[in-house]
Amino acid sequence: MTARLRPTHAEVDLDAIRANVHTLAAAAGDAAVCAVVKADGYGHGAVPVARAALDAGASWLAVALVEEGEELRDAGIDAPILVLTEPPPAGVDRLLAARLTPAVYTARFGRALDAAGRGRGEPVAVHVKADTGMGRVGVPPDGWEGFLAEAAGWSGVRIEALWSHMARADEPDAPTTAEQQDRFDAFLALAGEHGIEPALTHTANSAATLVQPRARRDLVRVGIAMYGLSPSTEVTADGHGLVPALRFVTEVGFAKRVTAGTPASYGHTWSAPADGWLASLPVGYADGVPRLLSNRGEVLLRGLRRPIVGNVCMDQLLVWCGDDEPHVGDEVVLLGGQDGARVTADEWAAWAGTITYEIATGITRRVPRLAR
Ligand SMILES: *Cc1c(COP(=O)(O)O)cnc(C)c1O
Repeated sequence: MTARLRPTHAEVDLDAIRANVHTLAAAAGDAAVCAVVKADGYGHGAVPVARAALDAGASWLAVALVEEGEELRDAGIDAPILVLTEPPPAGVDRLLAARLTPAVYTARFGRALDAAGRGRGEPVAVHVKADTGMGRVGVPPDGWEGFLAEAAGWSGVRIEALWSHMARADEPDAPTTAEQQDRFDAFLALAGEHGIEPALTHTANSAATLVQPRARRDLVRVGIAMYGLSPSTEVTADGHGLVPALRFVTEVGFAKRVTAGTPASYGHTWSAPADGWLASLPVGYADGVPRLLSNRGEVLLRGLRRPIVGNVCMDQLLVWCGDDEPHVGDEVVLLGGQDGARVTADEWAAWAGTITYEIATGITRRVPRLAR
């Protein structure tokens, strides 16, 4: 590896991950913790986050893709890994080779696993997913009876869990979660009539773990909150004692004094309001700073908030420092804390009109992640 030249990177604080797992485990009560590390651990690094979460007492991991599960196995991680969505049919062999636990919600995929389980003489443990109102994937209610009747006869499959996913757990006042829980109970009752008695049931994401007691069941699948980020504006990380794990930093790359009225960056959408100092930072939208932060976002420089001015470029952005002279090499914090001040992913999400999930997963591969 050649040394990095550009001073732009993300620090990932694994102690924060561990602390958040403890906080979530306490909120979950008797339920076990499944650490969701899909999308490279929400941009934090799947392998180090998975290790830290297991260290802190998580007993399961979850990913979206077989490939993501393989990455964890290749790193020597031995914990059970749930694959939250069905892979294409060609994924069955790799899924079994990597000892991953598949979500199942189509008869076609269930039959393929049944055949594989009978073929190897050992049933495949699966988690059958019901759609109780998310409306995305899962056996839809009008298919429950047919699916369960067939699945009860799959000798190559062992139904380890029945589960579902909440659409509006992050809105404490929405009636939807209670309705989904009622439907899930009906699904469990129907499964029982077919002799299906799973060891586990699970329906909670981060928000449900924090604010929807009924959803906690036996296992909670926590993603965003484990990273110390807010599930929504109503269910916040801060409000639940969760600590952001990622700090996105760079340095002043270039600084100059400009006169009032000097325009800057593409489109000249900004010009200097007075004589003063303009700093250029070596970071841009190709690193995951949304272009929507142009003339809207703020960074930290020597513990003070400084506005992002002009249009954010692919590799650079500009910050107005007024009368305070910035120096090349000064640390600039894009996300996280500096000298007691803090910029949060909640703020970025508000500035960019999106959610913390997209902010975290939007920090691109060009930004090295330094776990510590
Ligand atoms: C991503 C995901 C989770 C984790 O959700 P968070 O809101 O990040 O806690 C849980 N369950 C499923 C099915 C998911 O896709």
